Amino acid sequence: MHTNADKKTTATPPVHRELDVETIRADFPILNERVNGHPLVYLDSAASSQKPRSVINALLEYYRRDNANIHRGLHTLAERATGAYEHTRTHIAKFINADEPEEIVLTRGTTEAINLLAYTWGEQNIGEGDEIVVTEMEHHANFVPWYQLAQRKGAIIRRIPITVCGHLDLSDIDTIINSRTKLVTVVHMSNVLGTINPIAEIAAKAKKHGAIVVSDGAQAAPAMPIDVKDLGVDFYAFSSHKMLGPTGVGVLYGKRHLLEAMPPFNFGGEMIQEVRFDKVTWAELPHKFEAGTPNIADVVAFDAALHYLEDLGMENIHRYERDLTAYAIERLSELPGLEIQGPRETEQRGAAVSFTDPDIHPHDISTFLDSHGIAIRAGHHCAQPLMRVLGKVATARASFYVYNDRSEVDTLVEALKDMRKYFCL
Ligand code: PLP
Repeated sequence: MHTNADKKTTATPPVHRELDVETIRADFPILNERVNGHPLVYLDSAASSQKPRSVINALLEYYRRDNANIHRGLHTLAERATGAYEHTRTHIAKFINADEPEEIVLTRGTTEAINLLAYTWGEQNIGEGDEIVVTEMEHHANFVPWYQLAQRKGAIIRRIPITVCGHLDLSDIDTIINSRTKLVTVVHMSNVLGTINPIAEIAAKAKKHGAIVVSDGAQAAPAMPIDVKDLGVDFYAFSSHKMLGPTGVGVLYGKRHLLEAMPPFNFGGEMIQEVRFDKVTWAELPHKFEAGTPNIADVVAFDAALHYLEDLGMENIHRYERDLTAYAIERLSELPGLEIQGPRETEQRGAAVSFTDPDIHPHDISTFLDSHGIAIRAGHHCAQPLMRVLGKVATARASFYVYNDRSEVDTLVEALKDMRKYFCL
């Protein structure tokens, strides 16, 4: 498989190609690690993915060859660093089919992107009695900022419930979204249930009432082709670190006319056009929202992650994950009493599979698996309202990505069987 961190053009994505997982795995040095005497089985990519060599090298190369502050220097390194940073922005715009790079605001992650939105668009547009629609399956990152805004403004949070199968229950959607709705915000793919939500359908309902549509793409952007126009969203947020890129980089996509009307988020250098003692004017998009020195190196290296994903083809990744998830659900279903959360049909779900054992706490499951070299996540997954709806305090979650294969699912299932023996069950 070809990956090249220095490549500056977007390759045409190959379509309908099987992923060559053995070759992919060879690109990820960390997968050679042994953990507690066992080969690492990394099933926690929904929390943060591993990084291919091209991304690691891009980071090193940036610091070795191009490092300088961006946008204000006139020397060669400053120009190189600026070019590389802005190149990533252009690449991101293409990756999600935004109209232009100016619609891409670089943040520290999904969480910061949504906070930015709540503090700027939200402060400006939400008032007393206005309604903000969320779903019961939001990550705290796409709930707490809106909850806080509603508290500040006297606005009302309404929620789209979930069905017992882990889908959104849209039967009352025409009541939930109404003429008082100002904002509808929906996670594209749930980090707990794996559910992929019908964003375009919900966006169309919201648009009938003139509401703004936000989607949290933290889990979906790594896993499937994203076209913000097809989704019909006004804003879309995601994080580099869940899609093979470095930590500390996130994206807020926004439609130009909305971003232009929004006030800045942070204030200081870089985000201004002119500063006088009695008057300050703001920089053009997207710099108005990027005060101070950004996370240059990690943004530059994110470009290599996008190339890597494009070389594989997002459609291929999506199909591969569906197949692996179907296999994981089938194998996990063999375990007596194990309860799997979220939809069974993999057409409508991604590769995060949460489960609970009737007798063993998820934290104990995770600790036991770790002693076998298997990394999963256990807890409330930053989705406490959803946990309440599910009637759980926590779940265990295995999540899969392009470098995982069926043999690792088998290792997980065998270890879970051993676990029950270990606990004398
Ligand atoms: N939204 C979802 C659905 C997530 O899964 C996560 C992270 O797990 C976030 C938002 C927050 O992302 P970050 O921590 O990168 O800001």
